[in-house]
Amino acid sequence: MTKETTILAPGATIGILGGGQLGRMLALAAAKLGLKSHIYCPDPQSPAFDVTPFKTVAAYDDVEALKGFAAQVDVITYEFENVPATTAQVLAGLKPLRPGANALAISQDRLEEKGFLASKNIPVAPYRAIHGLDDLNKAVAELGLPAVLKTTRLGYDGKGQRVLRAPADAEAAFAELAPHPLVLEGFVPFEKEISVVVARGADGTVRSFDAAENVHRNHILFTSTVPADIPPGVEKHAAMLAKVIVVALDYVGVLGVEFFVLGGERPSLLVNEIAPRVHNSGHWTEAVCLTDQFEQHIRAIAGWPLGDPRRMADVVMQNLVGDEVEIVPNGLDGDTQPHLYGKVEARPGRKMGHINKVVRD
Ligand code: AMP
Repeated sequence: MTKETTILAPGATIGILGGGQLGRMLALAAAKLGLKSHIYCPDPQSPAFDVTPFKTVAAYDDVEALKGFAAQVDVITYEFENVPATTAQVLAGLKPLRPGANALAISQDRLEEKGFLASKNIPVAPYRAIHGLDDLNKAVAELGLPAVLKTTRLGYDGKGQRVLRAPADAEAAFAELAPHPLVLEGFVPFEKEISVVVARGADGTVRSFDAAENVHRNHILFTSTVPADIPPGVEKHAAMLAKVIVVALDYVGVLGVEFFVLGGERPSLLVNEIAPRVHNSGHWTEAVCLTDQFEQHIRAIAGWPLGDPRRMADVVMQNLVGDEVEIVPNGLDGDTQPHLYGKVEARPGRKMGHINKVVRD
């Protein structure tokens, strides 16, 4: 156990930056363990505010509000990786921040992330940093086409990226995404996408959940199916790579790792992205694991022993996006566990909830 490890007693308070569905599910898991949650979010309509009375509505750069928040909590975590660096610095100076500021700095910048992964010999798609149109033309010549041009920061659900199919696409894509710092990635002809949600406890124990096979629709996760249809050796390799990542980051908490699976006679893996938080492709754990990802994260950041992530049934998680939420309640069957986020307005593309359908033999 590291010397600064804090072990929270029941009744202690977890501070959560971000009031979306992930913050809400973390607060629910904390409550189950007898811990309180205090949510910090600028949006007064945040879904997480529904499940705990302790809240701060303030901007992420409001230093006085951050200090007041830190004074009322025992440990601080976050539900999204784009926490500004200065916010993380202010908070980390006042209370334990788990996972740490290092994991945030790496995962909020695609170039930092790829550099970190490559330095640990973890395979990633070929890439080049792009600072100008000349860089882009050179990178296109080197990596070939198709290729994917991405902003290094603040991209999610397919936002901030363009696929280049012909050399003539480069200029328009650059104009659309600049002046943000960019990265060009070689297009990966993957067979499927999988993810592993891994946890590392404050005592250094690492446990991962089974790999999920993910299907996206309109750039938004649609389903996560477990078990993934991949050879056992590939699943083991994915868990091993996830472990290398959390150990290298000296990480405490849950982390999501997204992989591309390359087909062929001997399937191989590339890491697409890491997320230093609970992950949408881990929502299935709620329905079929002894310890789900939310409880696992709270246990880790509270300094408690990790729980058993064993899976007890096959399962398919499906996101309910926009008006798909109307399936609840009348479209549900007995094997389906619904989880709604309490959002009032079902805008197109907005994640409103998810269902876990347990598959019986
Ligand atoms: P990202 O925001 O990087 O997770 O990308 C969103 C989705 O775009 C991924 O889940 C893939 O389906 C696709 N994608 C991203 N990068 C690449 C790539 N280099 N090659 C092929 N598909 C990609």
